[in-house]
Amino acid sequence: MLHRHTTTKQSQCLFNPGKLINMEAIKATAEGVKKVSTTPVKAFGTEAATAPLGELNIQRRKPTTHDVEIEILYCGVCHSDLHTARNEWHGTIYPCVPGHEIVGRVVSVGGHVKKFKVGELAAVGCMVDSCRECDYCSEGLEQYCENGNTGTYNSPDTHLGGHTFGGYSESIVVDEAFVLRVPENLDPAATAPLLCAGITTYSPLKHWNVGPGKKVGIVGIGGLGHMGVKLAKAMGAEVVVFTTSPSKFEDARRLGADDVVLSKDPEQMQRYAGKLHFVLDAVSAQHDINAYLNLLRVDGSLALVGAPENPLPVAAFSLIPNRRSFAGSMIGGIAETQEMLDFCGKHNIVSDIEMINIQQINEAYERLLKGDVKYRFVIDMASLKNGK
Ligand code: NAP
Ligand code: ZN
Ligand code: ZN
Repeated sequence: MLHRHTTTKQSQCLFNPGKLINMEAIKATAEGVKKVSTTPVKAFGTEAATAPLGELNIQRRKPTTHDVEIEILYCGVCHSDLHTARNEWHGTIYPCVPGHEIVGRVVSVGGHVKKFKVGELAAVGCMVDSCRECDYCSEGLEQYCENGNTGTYNSPDTHLGGHTFGGYSESIVVDEAFVLRVPENLDPAATAPLLCAGITTYSPLKHWNVGPGKKVGIVGIGGLGHMGVKLAKAMGAEVVVFTTSPSKFEDARRLGADDVVLSKDPEQMQRYAGKLHFVLDAVSAQHDINAYLNLLRVDGSLALVGAPENPLPVAAFSLIPNRRSFAGSMIGGIAETQEMLDFCGKHNIVSDIEMINIQQINEAYERLLKGDVKYRFVIDMASLKNGK
């Protein structure tokens, strides 16, 4: 989840910007919600921005008629988990259990569930519900739901009151409309990161018509960026990687890049000045956005998916000369997420992963901050069950 601070009592969710999350309303919802039976579930999360993550217990609802109960096998570690756990977007509700790149096995289904059977693999991404009625929901753009989508974590829980808890947990219960199918030919652990890093890069690449004949820049080769390279290449584009890390040069080519540029070197950057049709910026920290806007051709677009804590200054003359567009993009809708998973199944695309135990999560966050992951940590959730 992405959140931005507005007042001490209210915070705005960047995954549903029209909607203010009101802490008082969450309490009121909790009181107003009718009694739903629950099961205690082991999870890993944090009680405060400065506290390390540790084991805690949460309640999951017992599956209702349209629900799928999933035993979580693998959960990817997104930089948004870290931003949220540490309250870098100033809207975190504690205790916070992050995790929105979930792959698991269906262990029970409600009476009306049609899409899933017990024993099948299933996946959950960044959303677990939306209003399903507004114009955007009707168009399959649930991520932009006018009434606010329900994030997998840190959103008001419409069933139990309180707020939602994510995938760093033994199991999750989700309405089947928000549960995805996992292609059978893909490794389930390496598929988990597709649920956020995959869709967040696939959606803008599709929206800005990336394909044959297009020159595309991918900036920041972390979890999102490395998926962006693989996907843009599979869509047929010419792909140029922009990285601050010389150690990623060789990998960038292996991931599919046609060229690699060290973004700290102005001479190397100059090679692509005014040359690119589209740039996808997946950087998690403060950086000079003007350096990348200047790479765009006439009518080129730069889409920001990275969400640094502070504003990025944009110079008017980075946009005006080539009629350039500066845009943003947030995850993707449910149908598009399934389309992305099927595309990855067809092209045999998964994430490059480093598997960790849940007990290593605090160390993994520190390594994420240093860009020291190739290219996504995935938690083997058996470690939570086994306690090691
Ligand atoms: P990540 O794995 O940590 O990757 C971020 C990459 O950014 C790093 O590998 C590094 O790439 C580059 N970078 C880091 N610090 C930098 C700095 N100070 N200056 C320049 N480059 C720097 O993170 P991620 O999980 O891919 O997420 C990336 C961002 O996207 C996060 O802010 C996350 O919250 C956001 N996000 C947004 C959405 C959405 O819907 N829009 C969804 C998910 C995540 P190099 O080493 O190649 O330079
Ligand atoms: Zn994410
Ligand atoms: Zn809606």
